[in-house]
Amino acid sequence: MQEKTFWLDTIEIPAPAPREFPQRADVAIIGAGFTGLSAARSLARGGASVAVLESQTVGWGASSRNGGMVLTGLKLPAATLIARHGKELTARMYAASLESIDFVEQLVREENITCDFSRCGHLEVACKPKHFDDFRRSAEETARHFGHQQRLIPKEQLQCEIGSAIYHGGLVDDSSAGVNPARYVAGLSRAAEHAGAAIFEHSHVDEIQREGAQGWKIATARGTLRAQNVFVATSGYTSRVTPTLQKRIIPIGSYIIVTEILPEKLAAELSPRNRMIYDSKNYLYYYRLTPDRRMLFGGRAAFFPETSSTIRRSADILRRGMLSVYPQLREAKIEYVWGGTLDFAFDIMPHAGQLDGLHFSLGYAGHGVGMSTYLGDRIAQSILCGRDENPFAATPFPGAPLGLYNGRPWFLPLAGLWYKLLDWLT
Ligand SMILES: Cc1cc2nc3c(=O)[nH]c(=O)nc-3n(C[C@H](O)[C@H](O)[C@H](O)COP(=O)(O)OP(=O)(O)OC[C@H]3O[C@@H](n4cnc5c(N)ncnc54)[C@H](O)[C@@H]3O)c2cc1C
Repeated sequence: MQEKTFWLDTIEIPAPAPREFPQRADVAIIGAGFTGLSAARSLARGGASVAVLESQTVGWGASSRNGGMVLTGLKLPAATLIARHGKELTARMYAASLESIDFVEQLVREENITCDFSRCGHLEVACKPKHFDDFRRSAEETARHFGHQQRLIPKEQLQCEIGSAIYHGGLVDDSSAGVNPARYVAGLSRAAEHAGAAIFEHSHVDEIQREGAQGWKIATARGTLRAQNVFVATSGYTSRVTPTLQKRIIPIGSYIIVTEILPEKLAAELSPRNRMIYDSKNYLYYYRLTPDRRMLFGGRAAFFPETSSTIRRSADILRRGMLSVYPQLREAKIEYVWGGTLDFAFDIMPHAGQLDGLHFSLGYAGHGVGMSTYLGDRIAQSILCGRDENPFAATPFPGAPLGLYNGRPWFLPLAGLWYKLLDWLT
């Protein structure tokens, strides 16, 4: 078993063209994942000079490590969101989640990115009978408030969707899609460069300082750059360099295992419609077939961000989880295991706008493949035209209750236990 990302065995992400490190740019973007590269492409197409500064290499963060599920909806149920934000704003947020998939689809087509994008739909499976009742309510609310149709699949029809007997029904959304994220981020990087953006790997940003009324001085491992605007696109890897954002984001580990290539018949039995699948628990499992017919199975096996030890432990936990869903995979060899860091805001919502003069977009809570690409573009448009109409800019970006968080998530083991308890009780 290799401790590495399966997706990176399907493509070697090309390094950006070598260039001299610039002294100035209209916009400096920190982070070369989906958010930063999508913004870079849009800004460069809009005529701005753009420098993308990446600590490691293109796509090194969550963007090459995820499950490749391009999902509709937000992390929280419609009723909770409506109670919090009202019908009109919630409807705009939901519409953004749908638009984000169209946006990715169009971008992939326009830029000719070979990344196995496919509108295969997603299936949410109910771990308890009560969860299926929740699906019924949620589908009804989604249709009524947002005009978006999802399909309920009763337990007795579920074998058309999944070769597992442990669930109590499902909810299908045909608008969701699947993608190979490493190929996608590589294509996005090429598209950003083609539009005129300059991308610099191994350029960790150490410090961002205000300089005069208009600009910023950005100290990096490669030199100092001055820019009129800074866009922070660091997601779960947000650090002390941007302390105001760091205090608002909880970095949470998520882990994935991938099996050997499965026989065609077995793969068709496990997932007859090739859906992106996740279950209804808080401590959830998400899984799918890869384009070459492996089972990719992920979950928050440990809450802490990835280290060699959390990755190793997660491999065993996830294999047990996978066998509880699919006993048919008992003999299947696990060939890959890896981890990555998700970005959760305290209200479990995306946030995109401006704080202390810095532009940012983060807080995707595991729904980031579509949303990061989309909000990267939205923030880029707001920098170009000075008007921000994305619905996530309209909500306050909360910090920890009582301010009990300085960016080091000491409470993660407690949060993990809390969610396990909730899954047991509800
Ligand atoms: C295991 C896993 C599975 C997931 N599965 C899914 C899924 O199936 N569907 C879905 O929608 N979402 C999923 N997600 C979430 C999704 O991958 C992310 O929301 C998305 O990739 C975020 O993209 P990003 O560009 O904002 O951040 P990232 O891709 O994380 O990029 C941030 C970059 O910032 C760089 N950086 C940080 N600090 C600095 C600095 N000081 N200077 C320079 N560079 C810096 C980092 O090196 C990193 O490359 C998953 C995430 C993980 C970890």
